Amino acid sequence: MRLYPRSLRVQLCAWYVALTMICMSALGVFSYLYLRHALASSREQTMQKRENRLLRYVREEPHVKVATPLSESLRRFGLASPDSDLLQVYTPAGVKIYPELNVGLRVAWPASPCQIPCFQVTTLGGHNLRVLQHDVVINGQEVMLTMAGVIDEHYDILRTVRNSYMIFLPLMLTASIVGGLVLGHRALVPVDRMTLAAHSISIHDLTRRLPVPQTGDEIQRLAETWNQVLARLESAVAHLTQFTSDISHDLRTTITVMLSTAQLSLRRERSSEDYQEALKTVVHECESTTSFLDDLLALARIDASQQNVELAAISLSSIIWEVAEHLRPRAWLKSQTLEAQLASDAWILGDPALVRRLSVILIENAIKYTPEHGRIKVSVLRSEEGLKLEVSDNGMGIAAEDLPKIFDRFYRSDASRNRDEGGSGLGLAIAKWIAHTHTASIEVRSGEWSGSTFSVSFPVLETGLDERSVGTSKLKTLFHL
Ligand code: ADP
Repeated sequence: MRLYPRSLRVQLCAWYVALTMICMSALGVFSYLYLRHALASSREQTMQKRENRLLRYVREEPHVKVATPLSESLRRFGLASPDSDLLQVYTPAGVKIYPELNVGLRVAWPASPCQIPCFQVTTLGGHNLRVLQHDVVINGQEVMLTMAGVIDEHYDILRTVRNSYMIFLPLMLTASIVGGLVLGHRALVPVDRMTLAAHSISIHDLTRRLPVPQTGDEIQRLAETWNQVLARLESAVAHLTQFTSDISHDLRTTITVMLSTAQLSLRRERSSEDYQEALKTVVHECESTTSFLDDLLALARIDASQQNVELAAISLSSIIWEVAEHLRPRAWLKSQTLEAQLASDAWILGDPALVRRLSVILIENAIKYTPEHGRIKVSVLRSEEGLKLEVSDNGMGIAAEDLPKIFDRFYRSDASRNRDEGGSGLGLAIAKWIAHTHTASIEVRSGEWSGSTFSVSFPVLETGLDERSVGTSKLKTLFHL
């Protein structure tokens, strides 16, 4: 297992170790402080009880019937106390009442008065003492009472706890580094496998997929998502390959037609009608190739987001009328009827060139995919949402399984691929993009040999706007673009 400083494995391990260490240190410090506080308060409670016992004893003196001096009472009480406990009683003037013998050192009195018991820790004679000091009145006499108990064993306990943490922490650090590395390794093994598999997938073999660990976690979702991406890539590359072979075939056919037409014409002297016929063929081939290359260029611009879209108020009906008239000869050549039903005052916010192109694509398709003597109807209708452009025909229709795919780039149904007419499978992809740019929706209703109806719904624009008089910015405000 090789470790790189910035690898996810090392980072995960570092986070894991850092968090464990922070938690352990916090726990250690908290336990230590809590224990220290618990020991101190328990000792203070014990001392408080001892003071109460002392006061009760000297005030009530249950064993002695005659009055006893205070020092004597304190001595008796002291005799019954453990040796380690210290008792000192002074008058406020500093005169010692107990112990009578001048032994031991006096515990210093705090600067402020101790009407309620004062506690402190001090060192006396090499021992640590917890001290209770209290100004009390015993049998009418004001005294300064000091009681103290040795707390050396508390320090021993605290030291032992601290030392065990000091030993425990490095052990925990080592265990958490090892644990972090093992956990990181286990978590990232599937990622390594996926990386290895991804390395071996090339553009020439997109059928392969990444291994999917059945763990139900994010890694499984990641692998599945990548496999979906690969599937889309595979299908796109398959389309592109198909498209490249289609283009090569189309261009080759065009060149072959033009070449053979020219060669045939040059083989011997021809009449001027023959030459004209030959030139017409060449012009037709050039025109269809130009339109094909235009489609390709348009898509390339769309992909590179370089297509300029200038929105302005335009009359949809005028544009459709113009396009229908332009394509009428094509329909006439196939003895088709081309009807137009156009609502007046049909304004939309659009780019005239793009809307023209959209209608050319839809009407041309209707002509292409409708047999001779067929009927094509182009309408601009007013609907509740806005304006609807409808192009319907009674042609070959579209099979249900093809319907979801016809707006994909390069997609051509098998039926249309077998025909002489037909293009590259780019038209509807461009139409969809144009509709999208105009915040319009594009839909198709069709069935095999029951004709097709393509409809594009544009949002409505206020009527009576003049194309030249309305600026794009004003229209943008109207439409809240
Ligand atoms: P093409 O250049 O092949 O016409 P399009 O993108 O314009 O490409 O259309 C994609 C496919 O949709 C066509 O190949 C055809 O199968 C189908 N199609 C489009 N319009 C019609 C229509 N009016 N009638 C039947 N099929 C159609």
